[in-house]
Formats: sequence, structure tokens, C-alpha cells
Amino acid sequence: MTFDPETTTFLIAGPVRIHPRVLRAMSMPSLNHRGDYFHGIVREIRELLPVLFGTTGHQVVLTGSGTAGLEAVYASLVPKDGRTLVLTNGNFGDRTNEIVRRYSSSVTTLSAPWGSPIPLDPAKAELAKGDVRAVCVVHNETSVGLANDLAALAPAVREAGALFLVDGISAVAGIPVSVEAWGIDALVAGSQKGLAAPAGLALVHLSERARASLRPGTFYLDLAAHLKSLEKNDTPWTPAVPLFLALREALLLLKEEGLEARLARTHRLAEAARAAVDALGLELFPDRRFASDTVTAVKNPAGLGDPELRKVLERQYNIIVQGGQGALTGKIFRIGHMGIADWPDLLVTFAALERILGKAGRLENPGASLRAVVDRMP
Ligand code: PLP
Repeated sequence: MTFDPETTTFLIAGPVRIHPRVLRAMSMPSLNHRGDYFHGIVREIRELLPVLFGTTGHQVVLTGSGTAGLEAVYASLVPKDGRTLVLTNGNFGDRTNEIVRRYSSSVTTLSAPWGSPIPLDPAKAELAKGDVRAVCVVHNETSVGLANDLAALAPAVREAGALFLVDGISAVAGIPVSVEAWGIDALVAGSQKGLAAPAGLALVHLSERARASLRPGTFYLDLAAHLKSLEKNDTPWTPAVPLFLALREALLLLKEEGLEARLARTHRLAEAARAAVDALGLELFPDRRFASDTVTAVKNPAGLGDPELRKVLERQYNIIVQGGQGALTGKIFRIGHMGIADWPDLLVTFAALERILGKAGRLENPGASLRAVVDRMP
């Protein structure tokens, strides 16, 4: 079979497969973005956003990918003068570090090797010094398939009185994010991940304290301007109208399923994926205790790289999984299982992996990975 985007089994770590209802929602004639009809759409989106974030607060939709949301938050909330602490253990943490350094001259960066958890004790030691005003961290490090333990970090951030700014792009609607309990001040989500809407929108939740601390950063992504317009169900500049229509439908689907149910389903799929990887005799890339529920990162077995695995999945079986980024290119592959990913996706993917490994003489227990998935189905 040759690659066919219409029928592919699509399991990258975002953008994810999109429900036909959401696709259809975009097929509308042009709308007047300053007219009553579109204002009604924006009002509905505002009312639905707490379903996504699991809490109410100051919440905005920005036209732009997830990075636009991050830039909006860091540009307007990292202190110009006070110290900012950045914690990183992957590609997106490193990118956060780059963005933050554009807006703050006093940044301390603590790094852990990719695949290991963030350095908690050194972070606590920095926070105990009392002069850290903001902490920036990626919750779910998509590049290495690892979920950082924010519950363990949160008390130290709160004690230090620092703003807690979280990249939740591949976490929100995929793994539990306890905004209130952890005292998160800014949380950024991307439309193309757990929400399963098209790529191109960033969703930002702000606490009362963050709202009060906003300073003008970038013009286009000025969060205060966006919040002010949203009060009138409006946007400051021309929004990506079709994406807003898709967003409303994706939020409705999430509401119908329920946030808790989606998190539980994603967790179950992740456990099945991990068990199937074990059954294939392959190895997870990240520290297993912190393996992400939205994306499973797997080490390429020795001698089988992207051309022998991912490319065959794509060309022969029409299955799309993702490769590694940066230093991990050619060393790992990643299976995304968030949003509306489901059991048939895992079954067909592990069946094809079994076939590929079997043909290469590298499969010890034929059928075991499929059994591992089936045994975990509801
Ligand atoms: N942060 C994380 C954790 C991500 O997974 C991604 C995208 O995969 C980004 C940031 C960047 O988001 P975008 O590509 O939507 O700008």
C-alpha cells in the first residue's frame, strides 16, 4: 500500500487524527469575524474552555501554534529584572529556555539529560534562595515521551512565591494537570494535541495573579489585549476563523466524552502501548517511572533505524509514527496516542511492527504485543 493521507493510521505526537465532525465544522463559507454569528462562536468557545483546562480562570485563544502561546506567556510574565528559573530535559524545554532568554536577562537554567526527569533537588535549592520570580517548565516533554512530576515541584514554587509558567501543550487533555492544586499561573495548550483539533491555535489559561502581573510583551500576542477583546466575544486581530469553528466542535466532543474519561482512556492506551513495546522486546527511551501517557518513545533496536522501521511502516502499511528530534534523530521512534486515538490504531501498529521485526528475525514472541494490547482493552 502506498501512503494515503485520507486513510492513514496517524499516530504522531501531534497534530493528531481529527474527528470528521471537527473536519466538517471547518467547511463553512467565509464569516464576518466582527459579526454576531462569529461572536456567538467565540462566546461558546469561552464557555467551553474550562472543560479543557479543568478549571475556570482567564482563558484566551490565540491564532498561532503552541509556540505562540508560550511566547505570549513568557513575553508578558517573565520578569525583566528578577530571576527566572528554567527547567529542561528535552527539546521543548530547551526551546523554552531560548524563548525566555529573549525576554529576561537573568535566567538560571537547570538541565537534566534527555529522558531523565527534571532535576528536582537542584531546582528546590535555587527556589530556596528566595529571589526566583518565575519558574518555566514543560509538563509533558513530547520529544522524549516523559511527563515531568509537577506535583513534586509545585510546593517549592509556591513557597518561593514565584510565578509558575507551564508548557502544557502535549499534556492538557492527555494527562492530569491540576491547575489549582499545583498553583499553576499560566498553562499553555496546543489545539493539535489532546484536544484533537487542527494545528494552529494556542490556548492559554492564566491565574488571577498572572492576569494582574501581565506587562506588554509582544504586540500581536499581547495577552491583556486578547483578554479585553474576549470580554466582548471578540479578538483584537483577524482570527483563524475556520480553526475557531473546528475548535468549538473539538471542545464539544471533549465535553461529550468528559475530561476525566478522556484522560482515563489515554492512560489505558498508554499502558497498552508500553506493555506491547515490552512484549516486542524493545526498550522505552525515557525513565520508565515518568513515561508519558500521550506519547510512547521507543529506542530503535540495534541495526534497525528509521529506514527499516518508520519508513516501512509508512510505505508498506500506511502507518505514520514519529521519529526522534535533534540528537535523537534516527535513535528513537515515537507513537502518539492522545486525542481520539483508539484501540484499532494500536492493534494495527503493533501488528505491523511484529511483521517488520519478524521478517528481520528479531521477534522472539510472535503475537505477544497484540495480546498485550488486547488484554488491556476495556
Ligand atoms: N511544547 C511541547 C511540549 C510540544 O509538544 C510542542 C509541539 O510538539 C511545542 C511546545 C511546540 O508547539 P507548536 O509546534 O504547536 O508551536
